[in-house]
Formats: sequence, structure tokens, C-alpha cells
Amino acid sequence: MLFPVNLSFVLLPKGMPRGDMAKPLLGRRNMESNPDLAPAAGRTVGILGSGDFARSLATRLVYSGFQVVVGSRNPKRCAGLFPSAAEVTGQADAAKKTDVIFVAVFREHYSTLSDLTDVLAGKILVDVSNNTEINHHKESNAEYLASLFPACTVVKGFNVISAWTLQSGPRDGNKQVLICCDNQEAKRTVAEIAQVMGFTPVDMGSLSSACEMENIPLRLLPAWKIPVFLALGLFLCFYTYNFIRQVLHPYIWEQKNKFYKIPVEVVNSTLPCVAYVMLSLVYLPGVLAASFQLHYGTKYRRFPDWLDQWLQHRKQIGLLSFFCAALHAVYSLCLPMRRSHRYQLINAAVKQSTLGFIALVVSTLHTLTFGWTRAFDENQYKFYLPPSYTLTLLVPCTVILAKIFFHLPCIHQRLRRIRNGWEKGRYVKFTLPSATGEYSSGESSSNV
Ligand code: NAP
Repeated sequence: MLFPVNLSFVLLPKGMPRGDMAKPLLGRRNMESNPDLAPAAGRTVGILGSGDFARSLATRLVYSGFQVVVGSRNPKRCAGLFPSAAEVTGQADAAKKTDVIFVAVFREHYSTLSDLTDVLAGKILVDVSNNTEINHHKESNAEYLASLFPACTVVKGFNVISAWTLQSGPRDGNKQVLICCDNQEAKRTVAEIAQVMGFTPVDMGSLSSACEMENIPLRLLPAWKIPVFLALGLFLCFYTYNFIRQVLHPYIWEQKNKFYKIPVEVVNSTLPCVAYVMLSLVYLPGVLAASFQLHYGTKYRRFPDWLDQWLQHRKQIGLLSFFCAALHAVYSLCLPMRRSHRYQLINAAVKQSTLGFIALVVSTLHTLTFGWTRAFDENQYKFYLPPSYTLTLLVPCTVILAKIFFHLPCIHQRLRRIRNGWEKGRYVKFTLPSATGEYSSGESSSNV
């Protein structure tokens, strides 16, 4: 859930050091006209720690119009690293001066802050820490901090934002600041600070979500995992298949040594197969989803989890398909191979759904034209295995036939109505414009 506060622009306070940061995100003029942001922007915010994150955070806070007080074990040594508008002082002194304190130290050092227990009592501590491994500790860092300082309110937040992002300013892709806490008021306070800094706070619920939030930065491109494994799996299958047909068969039956084909030709004939099947796998879940909706006569029934996952990964599958096709094109262009032209199946980008589907149809037509006679040629069957392009036709042809079926007027119309909210066997309320232009409501069988 996004916090409902508007963003606006303010001026950089006079005399503020510029450093190499991007332009200030907020301006005083509009902030004054936006009463939601004004109290947050004027407040003093504390930071414990003087490391990379603390420095970037302090700079961004200063540029956003906050008073910043940094608590360090050695303030004299690190004062020069902070903007001159930020006050760098001892830990206890910093904790005294503000009610909201970012704890920019590693979990391992939380216990060394125990001297501050009294002075921190009743204050909001923002835990920004991350771990080095997924589920590294039994309890999240934030919950651990809360257990060490029971008189404080711990808010987990900003951990998915890097020091670099704080320095350079939020960009579209990484503007979201996830926030969780058991106390709504404290959560709102931190959300407002994030908002004034130009980020988009996202409410992640109670502090028990902290564990999940701490795992997020450690998950490498989560949306790509399944598609990458799928592509690798398909590559392995088709590579083995082509190896058997192109290398092993001639070696066993004709005593011909064709092992030189392993690094180039076999790879080059495998790539388009993978690209082609992957491209059809972009459209297959849509076909299954349509069948599902037709069968149940509603769009309000949840798809099974596996289909849901599949639908969500279509973009990645499409891009990987394009990548394999591009790789095949590069292979074919760079290496003057006799048979390369035979496998140029897909060279069109698949960013747009229609463009991707056209690529699928063109590839299928190409494969059918190229392979039709060979599909009935006995010599093409090595170890009774059909040529790989014949094999790859299976999924794309199914998808194309299903798509054609769904475009039959009677099916298409029914599907369109389901997707517009119509449900099988239910009465739907509707509003009709009357002759006078006024609207009257009524009920009708949705079967009409
Ligand atoms: P860092 O550069 O190593 O700074 C850690 C700071 O902790 C030190 O500068 C030190 O400041 C302070 N500290 C307090 N007690 C300490 C003790 N007993 N021993 C050692 N240091 C102590 O680390 P960082 O990169 O700023 O990261 C700080 C926190 O932010 C971590 O929890 C990290 O997971 C989180 N974080 C960092 C990033 C990032 O991009 N760097 C991104 C997201 C989250 P004083 O010497 O002045 O006391």
C-alpha cells in the first residue's frame, strides 16, 4: 500500500553545500502550500553511525530540508565527511536532540549502543540494516533491535535503498522505500520523511515483515530465476537431442567424425529451437488462461498458482527468447556455416505482444516450409528421432491453433464478455441511458 501523501518541490536552503548530488528534490514554496509535508520537512532527524550509508542519508536529508544530527563514536574524525549543515556530535548527544533516529550501524554492533538505552527511550529507531545471507538470523535485525531497546519504537525502512541511490537521488526504478512497524504513528512519521526525500513509501505492515524486507536486497533478479532455468533446461534438452542426431548418429552408423560440430553447429541449431519454443511459451499461458475462463465462465476465479506464476513471467521468457534468437543471428553472421540460414527462425523483437505473435507465426511458417518434405524423409530420422525443427513445431502449432480457435466469433465474443465482467449463470446489474439522457438501473440475465 502506498502512503497517500503528495510530492512537491522546494528550494535548497541558503548556504547549503552542493557536493556532487543531483538537484534538490523538494522546494520550500510548494512545501508551504502542502501542509502534509511541512511538519516532516522541518524536523530534526538523527543518524547513529558515520559510514557510507549515514553520509549519503545525511546529505539527502539536508538537501530535503531536514535538520540533521549525526551521532558518532568519534565525531571529530568524521565531521568533515558530512555536509556542513549537518551537526556531527557524540552518540548520546545526537540521541538527545531528536525523536527519530536512523540506526546506520551493522547488526553486530547494536549491542554496543546499550549505553544509550535511557536516552533513546520513547524514540523512533529506524533500522536500515541488511544481512549478508538470506534468513541469516532467526529473528530479523529490526526485531533484534526492538528486543534490545524495548522502550523504543523500531521501524524497518530504507534498507532496500543503497547509499548510491541516496547520493544520486531517487530514480523511477528504485524510488520505493519499504516500511514496516507495529506502531502506525511511527510508521507514518518515517513514511513522511521518505516522501519529503522524494521516495515513495510502501507500507509493508507490521515489524514481522522485516525479515522478508531484509532478504529482498539479497535476491538476485527474482523474476528471472524461473525463465533462466527454463531457457537452460530447454537448451540442454535440445543440445543433447541435436548432438545425438548430428554427431553421435554419423559417428556410430557411418564412422564419420563430426565432433567438430559440437561448439558451433550444434549450438547454432539449438539456439533457434530454444528461441522458438520459448516464444510459444509466452503465448501458451494466455491460451490456458482463456480456456480456464471459458470453462468457469468468469474472470473472477483465481488461476492456479503455477499458471499465475507463468503469466507473470511472460515478459522475461519473451526477452530470453529474443536473446537466444539474437545470439543465433550473431553466430550465423559471424561464422560462415553452410547450414546456418536454415535455422533463422526468429529475428523479430518480441517486446510487443502482437509483434511477438507475428514472429511466432512467421517462424512457424518458415519451419513448416523448410521442414515439410524433410519431415517425411526417412533419412532425416536418426535413431528414429525426428529433426529438431519438426519437434519444436509441437508447442507453437498448438498455441497458434488455440489462438485461431479463440478468435472464432462465438468463442471470441464469449471470452470478451467474460473479460468485461460477465459471469456464467449470474444476473448482472447494469445501467441503461434512457431516452431523456438520464440513467436507469436494471437487472438482466448475463446470458443475453
Ligand atoms: P559502514 O560504512 O561500515 O559504517 C558503519 C558505521 O557504524 C561506522 O561508520 C561506525 O560509525 C558505526 N558504528 C557504531 N558502532 C560501531 C561499532 N561498535 N563498531 C563498528 N562500527 C560502529 O557501513 P554502512 O555501509 O554505512 O552500513 C551501515 C548500515 O546500513 C548497515 O546495517 C547496512 O546493512 C545498512 N545499509 C547499507 C547500505 C549501503 O549501501 N551501504 C544500503 C542499505 C543498508 P562511528 O565510528 O562514527 O560510530
